Amino acid sequence: MSARFRDLLVARARELGEILHHEADGAGEDPTREVGDYKDAAGQEAIAAVDAAHAAHAGRELKQIRAALERIADGSYGQCLDCGEPIDLRRLLALPATPFCTACQSAHEHGGERR
Ligand SMILES: [Zn+2]
Repeated sequence: MSARFRDLLVARARELGEILHHEADGAGEDPTREVGDYKDAAGQEAIAAVDAAHAAHAGRELKQIRAALERIADGSYGQCLDCGEPIDLRRLLALPATPFCTACQSAHEHGGERR
């Protein structure tokens, strides 16, 4: 079954890689753009801010996906990193890169600081 998830993860990683590449391309100065078009510059900045948030999110997800691909390679994929129990298959299909089972994920989200 891990081959199927590997395909899913690789496809998703490729998508995210394109988002990040796109971001890197747009980050540089554009020498063809006229200086002094303030309206356009403001619009560009707003777009850049959205792209930066998008790219940060994509970067985090890409990290998770790389870790998941490593777990597929070493045979531990599909087991929760916290409790070691198998992660629910439906959860994996929805979130192939997730390192935690549903119970541990919600523990992380709700009770992380209580320990
Ligand atoms: Zn768990």
